[in-house]
Formats: sequence, C-alpha cells, structure tokens
Amino acid sequence: MEFQIDATSQGARACTIKTAHSTILTPVFMPVGTQGTVKALDANDMLELGAKIILGNTYHLYLRPTSKLIKKFGGLHGFSKFPNSFLTDSGGFQAFSLSDNSKPDENGIMFKSHIDGSKHYFTPKSVLDTQYELNSDIMMILDDLVALPNTDERIKKSIERTTKWAKEAIDYHMEQKSKGIGTHQNIFAIIQGGTSKEFRKLSAQQLCDMSDFDGFAIGGLSVGEPNQDMYDTVEWTTQFMPKEKPRYLMGVGTPEDLIENIERGVDMFDCVMPTRNARNGTLFTTFGKLNIKKAQFKEDDKPIDACCECYTCKNFTRAYLNHLLRAGEITYFRLASIHNIHYYLDLMRKAREAILIDNWEEFKKEFYTKRSK
Ligand SMILES: [Zn+2]
Repeated sequence: MEFQIDATSQGARACTIKTAHSTILTPVFMPVGTQGTVKALDANDMLELGAKIILGNTYHLYLRPTSKLIKKFGGLHGFSKFPNSFLTDSGGFQAFSLSDNSKPDENGIMFKSHIDGSKHYFTPKSVLDTQYELNSDIMMILDDLVALPNTDERIKKSIERTTKWAKEAIDYHMEQKSKGIGTHQNIFAIIQGGTSKEFRKLSAQQLCDMSDFDGFAIGGLSVGEPNQDMYDTVEWTTQFMPKEKPRYLMGVGTPEDLIENIERGVDMFDCVMPTRNARNGTLFTTFGKLNIKKAQFKEDDKPIDACCECYTCKNFTRAYLNHLLRAGEITYFRLASIHNIHYYLDLMRKAREAILIDNWEEFKKEFYTKRSK
C-alpha cells in the first residue's frame, strides 16, 4: 500500500492510499457490503457512485457461501464484479454479537453459526487465511471485544489479548508473504480500551510499536457511549498513532460523527447507517435528516435534496419515493440507498476539497449552519 498526506487543515488530513485495486482519496467513507454487496445495489451502482473501496464481512462470507467458494470465483472482486478495493473485517465482531454462546479464550473465539448452529473457532491466523481467500485489499486482525461498560480487569484482559493476537497475526502475515501469499494485501491492527485514556494509550502504544502493520484502526467505539466521549477518546488516541499510516475509525457513524472525527485526524470510516436508514425511510440531506414516509411528502414535487446530484435526486420526486416506500416496492430501497450513499461519499469529497485549500473551519461551520436551518 502506498500512503501519502496531501494536505492538513486544523487536525483534518487529506491523504492518498493506493492499493492493488484502486486509488483512495481520504477522508473516505466505505459503504458496508456485508454479504459481498451493498444492500439493494450492485457493483455497477457503486462505480456510478464513485466508491473506491467497500467493506465486506468475513464472518458472513466465511459461513456462506464460504471463502473457499469465493476464492474459486477470483476472490471478492471476481465474485461481486466490484473492481475497486475491499476492506474485510476479521469476523470477530459478528462472532461476538450475532452468535449464541460466543466464547473467547487465550487463543481465539469459539462461536455457533447464526445460520445453522454449527460450531466454529476463529484464531488470529484462521481469520487471515479466510481473508487471503477473499483477497481483500485491507484485512483486519482478530481482536478481543468486550461489551461496554465493563470492569477494568476485563478491559485490561482484552488489551493484552488483542496485543498478543496482533503479534501472532503480523508474524503470520509476514511469513505468508514470504511464501508468496497475500503479497498485495494489507493488514491493520485495532486499538481497544473502551473510553479509558489509560487503556487506549496502552493499547495504541503496544500495537503501533509493531511497525509492519500497514495501518491502524480505533475499535470498540460507537457502542452506546455519549458522542462527546467518543470524540474525546478519538482525539486522545490519534496522538499515539503514527502520522505516516492510515487511521480508521470502525463503525462510525452519523454525518456529524464523520465531521467531528475527521477534525480529530481520522482518515477512514465505515457504517451501516446510510443503507440501513435508507431502508427505514430516513434520508440524509444538506439540511439534516428527513423521514420520507411522512404524509407531508405525499404531494411534494421536490427532489430529496435540492443540492444533491445523485441519480435519484436528478430523476425522482419526494412524492414518488414516499409512494414507493408506503407500497413496499423494492425500487424504493435501491433509490433511497443510492441517495444516502451518494450523500456520504459527497460529504467526504467536499471535506477533502476544504482540507486541500486549508478551509476546514469554514467548511465545518457551513455544514452545521445549513443543518440548523
Ligand atoms: Zn440525492
């Protein structure tokens, strides 16, 4: 992976990341394609939207259709026909959150499939083997997750384990690369530690000392803590992360969360919010959110967002979307997802433009002013 910082403005960074499959300009939002597709959309839609990287979920793809099958079709790129980059998570989060009786131990996580109840065991090495088969451009390590709030003792344990697993993962990856496996694939470690300054510092320092990692993520946030705690934790943690590598904040968040964390030095984001919200009727606009299901939109001849250049806004009215959603038409999900993803990607493009001309403060002010109207 090639990485360079193009400009900074306040704490915000505009960077360029080159993988084997695409050039990614940051700040970047990565739409979530859990099952090898962003829900309701296909590879062509994602290209039209200008997505340079999307996310795939290792847990889901490992269980079904299996990473072995995906490998036969040329990995995620060949299978889904999305030619740009993929980032895959380690599967640990879903093993933790979706499965019954998931049990972490010193060496990995035992869990039962949410599909058929079959038993599986993820280790730091096995999740990389799965991600080699998926052929993702950025692979995430297995980390030991804890539900928050939790005891200091349990959080400390999670940091120890995450560091131990990170060491196993990076050693294994370097060994595999020397054998010609995953040579163009990159690997990120995940900093844990809840909202504790002491624990975040400890985790960040231990992981960032392992200089073979291609980038670092901040995990375990946006799990119900107050927004300000998340922002403060990110601000605190980024100071311990190397400047010359990408920084990824996992699973965050609202447009406001993105703006706040870009300012705190984060480069990469992912979240199910634009697609999940689209499906339940919540659409993001320059002027804040709207619920398209409301009766007030029944005869509204305006587009979702007059400032939006997406396919949906250029062609359809709020009245039509209101009707499609109420009628339960599948087309609604597609049109609404196109709009919400476009909104997120466009917000990142505009944020980057502002950073490049060192105009962050003004950009942020305008973002909030328009939303309070
Ligand atoms: Zn639109």
